[in-house]
Formats: sequence, structure tokens, C-alpha cells
Amino acid sequence: MTTHDHAQVSVLGLGAMGSALAGALVRAGYATTVWNRSPGKADDLLAQGASVAATAGDAVRAGELVIACLLDHASVHEVLDPLCEELTGRTLVNVTTTSPAQARELSDWAARAGITYLDAGIMAVPQMIGRPGSSLLYSGSAAAFDQYKPLLDLWGASTYFGDDAGLASLYDLALLAGMYVMFAGFLHGVAMVAPAGVTAGEFATMATPWLTAMTGSFQGFAAVIDGGDYTVEGQQSLVFSDQSDLLAASADQGISTEVVAMLQRLIQRQIDAGHGAEGFARIIESIKQPG
Ligand code: NDP
Repeated sequence: MTTHDHAQVSVLGLGAMGSALAGALVRAGYATTVWNRSPGKADDLLAQGASVAATAGDAVRAGELVIACLLDHASVHEVLDPLCEELTGRTLVNVTTTSPAQARELSDWAARAGITYLDAGIMAVPQMIGRPGSSLLYSGSAAAFDQYKPLLDLWGASTYFGDDAGLASLYDLALLAGMYVMFAGFLHGVAMVAPAGVTAGEFATMATPWLTAMTGSFQGFAAVIDGGDYTVEGQQSLVFSDQSDLLAASADQGISTEVVAMLQRLIQRQIDAGHGAEGFARIIESIKQPG
């Protein structure tokens, strides 16, 4: 292992994620200084070769590149506001989860202080950092992304979305929307079959290949949406997509119908507007225009 003398990195926040990010840097030979509000979280990193700063200010002064991996937007300001002067002239990569508006606010705050700012969204859990499947989304300073890309790539595949600092967060949350609604759909299925004596594990065995195969539909939906024509032949129509059977079966099983009823409402609004013969992707029009 060699120490790269060209990149002094500091990581603020050694929760599960901050520790994973810092560990990847240390193992790759970057001179890494770490800081955490509460003591006792840096022991493993110290043993691996990291320097441990007593204060956030000491950590910032030790790094040309500062990584903030704190709880939320408020904690980032709480830690960094008093360190504005120390941060001036340095690069701040904020991997803390924030909303797009909060990311833009931090970007503006950084610009006023002469801090180069790159925002990030992490599409991974700590155990995935540095492993296949880990992906991080970035937006903000293109110069910072280009300069530090080899370092950022240590954590996972790095994708840059442009100089609007809010875009990484927007993508992050949009991807999470897809994930959580899919999880809710899976759990609805688990609840449906449970009264029939089917375990969640047995259902998961069936659901995993099914849902994986269904992700193959995304590009087809995307082509219809981008083309702006929901009448293209070969699509499953909205009338055909009616969820009445699924709702009735769920009610018969004595479970909540809320998850499926949400989808049925989106479909029904388009049918009521006279689009029943058009493709399923048209429910995006219900989503884009709140009822
Ligand atoms: P943890 O809860 O494990 O750690 C939170 C960290 O923030 C700790 O270091 C904590 O310090 C610090 N912190 C909280 N409030 C303050 C404060 N007011 N001042 C100073 N430090 C503070 O969270 P994670 O490490 O898992 O997550 C960190 C960020 O990464 C979050 O924004 C999260 O959304 C994001 N993320 C996490 C993922 C995950 O799977 N874990 C996945 C994707 C993103 P202390 O030890 O003193 O409490």
C-alpha cells in the first residue's frame, strides 16, 4: 500500500456509511483524516492507518478534499457553518442525504464562502461500498468531479449529472421511489398469500425472478413516454390493466387494499378522462398532474 501524496482527504462523520467510505480510502492508500462527533468510532480506521482529528476544524485543515457524511442537512450546517473560513479554497463533497432544495442551498452557501462543492447520493448500503453494484450519483462542480473521479470511483460507479447541485439528490430520491413502491408491492404479495399458509420466504423465491424479469419493461415504457404517444400498438391498455380482481382477491384474503388501490386510482383517472384504450404507461399523466 502506498500513500498518495497528491490527495489529502478528510472524512467528517463515522457512522456506518462514513466509516465504510473512509475505510475504502485508507485501504487504497490515500492520506485520510477522520473525525466523528462522538469518540470511539475511529479505532478501526486508526488501526488501518487513518489519522484521527480531535475536532472537525482539525480535520478540515488536514484535507484539501473534505467529505461530509453526516446525518442530514441540519447536521451538515451545524458542523460546517463554524468552519466556513477553513473550508474556503477547499473542495467539499457532501454525501449526506439531502433533498434537492437542500443540496442547492448548500451549494449556494459553499459558493458564497469560496468552497468548491460537489453533492452526492449514495445508491448502496455500507457493506456494498467498493464492491460491484455500488453506485454514487454526483452533481455540482464538474471540476471537482473530474479531479477526484479516481478517488470517488473507489466507492462505486460514479455518475455525474451536471452543475445543478440538486440533480444527484433528485435522481437518488427518484430511484428510491421506485425501490420503495416495489418493496410495498412485494410485501402486499407476501400478505396476500400468507393466509394460504405460504411463507414470505416461499413467496420471495417466486417473486425475485418475476420482478427481475419485469424490469425489462422499463425501456419499453420509456420509449412510449419519450415518444409522447400512448396509442402505440402492442401496449397493454389501461382498461386491461384494471386492478378490480386484485383488489377483490386482497379483500377476500382479509388484507388491506391500500397499495393496489393507489395504483387503481391512477389508472381510473386516465380511463375516466377517456384514455382507457391507451397504454399502461399513461398513468404517468395521473402522477404528473395531482388529482
Ligand atoms: P449513522 O446514523 O450511522 O451515522 C450518522 C453520523 O452523523 C454519525 O457520525 C453521527 O455522529 C453524525 N451526526 C449526526 N448528527 C450530528 C450532528 N448534529 N453533528 C455532528 N455529527 C452528527 O448514518 P450513516 O452513516 O448510515 O449515514 C450517513 C449519511 O449517509 C446519511 O445522510 C444517510 O442518509 C446516507 N446514506 C446512508 C446509507 C446507509 O445505508 N447507511 C445509504 C445511503 C446514504 P455520532 O456518532 O456522534 O452520533
